[in-house]
Amino acid sequence: STAAPSTIPSDLESFLSSPKRMLINGNWVNAKSGKTFDVYDPATDQVIAQVAEGDREDINAAVSSARAAFDTGPWSKMTASERGRLIWKIGDLIEANADELAQLETLDNGKPLAVAKVADVALAADMFRYMAGWATKIEGNTISLNVPYSPGSEFHAYTLKEPIGVVGQIIPWNFPLLMAAWKLGPALATGCTIVLKPAEQTPLSALRLGELVAEAGIPDGVVNIVTGFGETAGAALASHDDVDKVAFTGSTEVGKLIIGAATGNLKKVTLELGGKSPNVIYDDADIDTAIAGAADAIFFNQGQVCSAGSRLYVQRGIYDEVVAGVSEIAANMKVGSGFDPETQMGPLVSREQFNRVSGYLRAGLAEGAEASAGGGTVDRNGYFVQPTVLKNASPEMSVVREEIFGPVVAAMPFDNDSEIATQANNSTYGLAAGIWTRDVSKAHRLAKSVKAGTVWVNCYSIFDAALPFGGYKQSGWGREMGHAALENYLQTKSVCVSL
Ligand code: ADP
Repeated sequence: STAAPSTIPSDLESFLSSPKRMLINGNWVNAKSGKTFDVYDPATDQVIAQVAEGDREDINAAVSSARAAFDTGPWSKMTASERGRLIWKIGDLIEANADELAQLETLDNGKPLAVAKVADVALAADMFRYMAGWATKIEGNTISLNVPYSPGSEFHAYTLKEPIGVVGQIIPWNFPLLMAAWKLGPALATGCTIVLKPAEQTPLSALRLGELVAEAGIPDGVVNIVTGFGETAGAALASHDDVDKVAFTGSTEVGKLIIGAATGNLKKVTLELGGKSPNVIYDDADIDTAIAGAADAIFFNQGQVCSAGSRLYVQRGIYDEVVAGVSEIAANMKVGSGFDPETQMGPLVSREQFNRVSGYLRAGLAEGAEASAGGGTVDRNGYFVQPTVLKNASPEMSVVREEIFGPVVAAMPFDNDSEIATQANNSTYGLAAGIWTRDVSKAHRLAKSVKAGTVWVNCYSIFDAALPFGGYKQSGWGREMGHAALENYLQTKSVCVSL
């Protein structure tokens, strides 16, 4: 069946009917160049909106606005409690507008509406509330000194935790609203001011969030949102000399460019990058749960998850059974528009991503992997690919080494406990790992030896605002969520007083 033309849900008509401008210093403005770019519905390949195409000039204006808001605005003079209450309100407003935000996310990103509602929108609201609580709990220490060259002197020494200042935040398209929440929440809690650049593929929910941020009473200039492309607006933000810190989520390749761009003024950098996460099923696991979990680990969000369980290692005795089980789930998945309540997997986000994933499928099959489910694209408008399970995969294949960022899992057998840690760690990435077993000691042993920022045991893709998330190795620098996320936006000042 071919897709119907884009049907804009009626809840979104009013939002989409107004021009999509950028938020700078509390005003909704066009790009200085006057340029706009098209945003597509990935389920139909139809244009759904035109959005301001910000560039260096607009980034400059947004950074000046954030600087003024940080240095002189009411934001820095507010008590932490006042700040926390405003952040909490953003969570409330997200919840009050949950249906509209979920629909916007499905329209722009393609994901199933039910997922957008219970995952993206609910987690985003929770993130603001969780971070609202931290605003009042940012504390330094008192430290006793024993200065060897100053015997007998007495000092009172303490640390202050201060906001880092003006923060540039560059986010991807896989969880557009949630990634904005992960970034804005801790930056606001610590008292920073922000220039946010959403992904060009999916700018809409961030713009709606900008309206809610204003409605919550966050002062003008504290949150600025500049839409535009990575090589122009993003690069201008990462290299801006008056930005104190840049936080980036996206590909490892662009993460390395961000580091380079940041060297001019040595702004601080945190990065949440790619992954090729191992998901390990031992033969003593609850097989049915593990099979369902392995499918979910890779097919959730069309596989466009940096922590997706894309390397599936199954102990040899149950390898065939597990591959058959995951393949059966893949083959029976209902692929379609995210607005169809039956849909379990939506389209990929963009034409470019569709081409990239289908290129990997061709390469994997050419290199000798065998598709036991899927293996191709879906014959309809929009950017649909089949949920795919590749067997006979081996470590040197591109589909095993490289991040595909699509619904493609490579399944490989392993023999014993001692070899699996080496296999699991055979990657330049280290974002996440899954372990399925009934043996508690075995689970903890592998959890300890696997080089990954998050390890899920008998579950996968469990995210919570309180649980730190981030990468070992080339999966990134720093942690998001939890108490750990505050550190990204704070710096420590030591004060030493002679008594
Ligand atoms: P993908 O390749 O999956 O689209 P990217 O890492 O390219 O992921 O994109 C993530 C974010 O980084 C997006 O907001 C994008 O616009 C931005 N971006 C891309 N290239 C650059 C760059 N050179 N400098 C700064 N930001 C960039």
